[in-house]
Amino acid sequence: MLAALERLVARESPSFDKARCDACADEVADLFRQRTGVASIRHRREDRGDQLEIRIGQGAQPILLLCHHDTVWPEGTLARLPFQVDGDRVTGPGSYDMKAGIVEAAFALEAARPRRPVVVLSTSDEEIGSTSSRALIEGTARQAVAVLVLEPAASGGAIKTARKGIADFILEVDGRAAHAGVEPEKGISAVEEMAHQVLALKALSDPASGTTINVGVVEGGTRPNVVAAHARAEIDVRFARASEAERVVQAITGRAPAHQRRRRPAADGAQRRHHPPG
Ligand SMILES: [Zn+2]
Repeated sequence: MLAALERLVARESPSFDKARCDACADEVADLFRQRTGVASIRHRREDRGDQLEIRIGQGAQPILLLCHHDTVWPEGTLARLPFQVDGDRVTGPGSYDMKAGIVEAAFALEAARPRRPVVVLSTSDEEIGSTSSRALIEGTARQAVAVLVLEPAASGGAIKTARKGIADFILEVDGRAAHAGVEPEKGISAVEEMAHQVLALKALSDPASGTTINVGVVEGGTRPNVVAAHARAEIDVRFARASEAERVVQAITGRAPAHQRRRRPAADGAQRRHHPPG
């Protein structure tokens, strides 16, 4: 298993590098051929690395073993962080997440053939959102009786039984610049508006049902003596239920500015309308 893992780690596979991801996919295909005797089905992709599917056994309702062979590590990492075994600990780019999981799948299928058919998917773009493998994963998972994701364990070796959904937002606020000393009344502060929005966004969270909202980045304004014309925030939303995702996404996309369009100072005429003569 260590030798097999070393061969996979030696094939650096940053998600955006199609050639390298394809070379790593070749190695994964070889591994499954050696351990199980089964040839991989290759789903060709133009812009990303190819996706691999290995089908073991015939029949409906298979178990899906879900893996990915891309890594977050840029090409060349291996030179400074080579594959190393130190006691019961292996290091090297992508060994933990999740080339070791691929090796486990191949050797487990060699050691014990489950009565159910098994489908293994090894995708090439998990670290960048799975856009090119998503349809394949969803289509295969729908047919499956169970999906085991062979990502590494949580701390302490704990098995992960669920995963939250994620939504990312960018909020842009446009105000109106003005000199803070000379004519502040002509300005509309985007920073002030953003402050309202940040608090309102935070109020959408519901930790009891697993919904959390983090405004992790805020930037805006140019100088202390200028009313800020622009502000921008980056927001991370996590949710445990689809209904919560729907609620929060609707609330965020439907948000109105807290700033009320300032009415012109009431002129005499306007005042008189409230106090009609007679
Ligand atoms: Zn992973």
